[in-house]
Amino acid sequence: MSTMQRIIGQTRAIDVLGSALTSGRMHHAWIFHGPAGVGKATTAVRIARILLCHDPQTTLTGQPEACGACASCKLIDQPDAAHNDLHIVTKELALFSDNAAVRGRKLMSIPVEVIRDHVLTPAYRSAAMNHNKVIIIDEAELLNDTSQNTLLKCLEEPPAGTYLFLITSQEDRLLPTIRSRCQRVPFALLTDEQVETWLSDQPFAESMGADERQWIARFARGSLGQAMLAAEYGLDEWYRTLEPLIKQAGGGRPVIELGPMMAQRVEAFAKAWVDNHKNASKDAANKAGVRHLFGVLGEICRTQLRAARTIDDEAAAEPWLAGVDLLQEAERDLYSNVNVALLLDNLAIQWSARTPHPAGR
Ligand SMILES: [Zn+2]
Repeated sequence: MSTMQRIIGQTRAIDVLGSALTSGRMHHAWIFHGPAGVGKATTAVRIARILLCHDPQTTLTGQPEACGACASCKLIDQPDAAHNDLHIVTKELALFSDNAAVRGRKLMSIPVEVIRDHVLTPAYRSAAMNHNKVIIIDEAELLNDTSQNTLLKCLEEPPAGTYLFLITSQEDRLLPTIRSRCQRVPFALLTDEQVETWLSDQPFAESMGADERQWIARFARGSLGQAMLAAEYGLDEWYRTLEPLIKQAGGGRPVIELGPMMAQRVEAFAKAWVDNHKNASKDAANKAGVRHLFGVLGEICRTQLRAARTIDDEAAAEPWLAGVDLLQEAERDLYSNVNVALLLDNLAIQWSARTPHPAGR
């Protein structure tokens, strides 16, 4: 069992699912709800792998496990493989609709056509591999009322061997009639130590030192998704490079290189993001980069605040509180201001003007 599985095993999710699977009384519809990046979708796919496996096993600790060797497991384990009995429904499926009007709509919700084509149709068709079928609906909070009411039919009269998982960070957006027909599993944020343990087990974090892992775990604030992003895009390097400049800016003199240094990192992030994601917009990637930058600057402020409060030094805490205010203002500007370089230059200037450190620091 990997660390990842052990970590999720500590949440209620896998306990509930594990006992349901082993007892053979697996409910047909589930809601996984909780904050983004805590492993809801990953867990749903892992459960799907077990449900679709032709020869499921039981681990020494009594947990169900897919065999990893059957035709179904092999299909799921292939990157980009399309398993005919595993249907993952996302709002982007609307882009592939036969109906031009559906294709042309903005992707603000999951339209009823997607539910008909990608949930009801496969649900009432027999399984391609003569076994179970699994349907996972990601971002289920985007199901509009019509889509939810259409889905309801499938929940009221579930076709045999069909399992449905609704993944959501906003469970209250789901109709009470939907919620009452599903077994609901809350997912919680992980502790820093749990994130760190998980990181130490990941191939992409192999070359990382303990300090880096510790920083990423703290920065991730309980979200594995955030930890992966920080590791992939080297946000700990942003922290190490920018921290001394930010401290210098607090000395009252403008630090000319601060604005460009921040802009370079946002630019590098946006470029890499667009390279890694087909159909990603450069503008959205730039804004996401700025938000990650604000996240890193916020972490600098929080670290300094903690240090000041440990020694009960209110004067030392003040500039960092001002920094937090400044970041909140800049975040608001991000929505109206499209010029990232200008926004960051302005932030650098404001940082010198508005976060004066006590004399001598
Ligand atoms: Zn298998």
